[in-house]
Amino acid sequence: MYQLKHDPDICAKCPSPDCLLKCQYMSFDTEEAHEEMMKVCRGEDSPVLEKCVTCYACEEYCSQGNHPFYLIGERREEKGILTAARPITNQWINMTTMQGKYMTGAVTDKVMSCCFIPDLGALGSGKLFEEIAPAFALGAEFMCPAVHTHFAKMSVVKERLPIVLENFAKLGASEVICLHDECYGTFTSIAPAYGIDVPFKPVYYMDYLVDRLDALKDEIRPLNVSVVYQRPCSNRLIPEKFPVLRALLDRIGVQLLEREYQGENALCCGEIIRAVAGYQRANDVQKRNVDDMAAAGAEYCVFNCPFCQSTLSEMVSKQGIKPIHLIDLCKMAIGEK
Ligand code: SF4
Ligand code: SF4
Repeated sequence: MYQLKHDPDICAKCPSPDCLLKCQYMSFDTEEAHEEMMKVCRGEDSPVLEKCVTCYACEEYCSQGNHPFYLIGERREEKGILTAARPITNQWINMTTMQGKYMTGAVTDKVMSCCFIPDLGALGSGKLFEEIAPAFALGAEFMCPAVHTHFAKMSVVKERLPIVLENFAKLGASEVICLHDECYGTFTSIAPAYGIDVPFKPVYYMDYLVDRLDALKDEIRPLNVSVVYQRPCSNRLIPEKFPVLRALLDRIGVQLLEREYQGENALCCGEIIRAVAGYQRANDVQKRNVDDMAAAGAEYCVFNCPFCQSTLSEMVSKQGIKPIHLIDLCKMAIGEK
């Protein structure tokens, strides 16, 4: 079984344990944060193992790349500390089991990964995706297993990820364009953290869109709208990609408004928190987030993840803000929507 590459010496010498200092769901001073993280490193009991709501953010907060969130998941699983009720944990494992019900298109040297989310197939269409849309892959066989980290089932991640990678390799493509942050984050963060080789080049869909918009620049009509952005939890695994969002919005004449809960301080959509930490916690996170969007005065709320979009669209609409996926916003700019 693959082992997490975590170095406890790095934590022991860490000048600022930002993993827990910046955590929005627990409150520690510097000394406490250091001590609790060292307990996690040593495999001792810590309130962190009970209170972590699996927002993924400490993967971004740790500037040393020492993977605090994956370590917390490992320790929880070792100790049998479930994050959610057992039926919910098992439901996620069962409903994402590979059963040979996947679909693939005419894959060439590229494949467009729709993960296990049919909505991504609909989004990955039109002129922006005309080259790769026929080369799609959809189904549990191509689903990154990162969701199981929310349930501290790191063993499921380690068991399934090599199979998913092998399934992509069998398609023969050298590039996998990931339409879901979770997939790109899995291939570029989780896989190397466990020493799992990725036999292709993962391509982030926003990078792909920047290139496509440049190719179609004569067709762009700047939208001249202001938006807020709902950052998904899996974007915490790839914080280096945040500037690509801005580059993309700049190209289509969209202004990203500043607000309290964005960037490092972003709040996730809250639905996983509902399963892990209960209704009250989830409702509070969602209310603060959507109120903050409304206070910013945006016309649109731009979603990156379809799961966040289905979770928050109604709440956002009730505040008079139009929910839209980033890809649809780009399609609007070239007159397709
Ligand atoms: S996980 Fe990262 S931020 Fe936290 S104590 Fe270890 S090195 Fe520091
Ligand atoms: S995953 Fe989120 S809730 Fe859990 S320790 Fe990290 S920052 Fe805190």
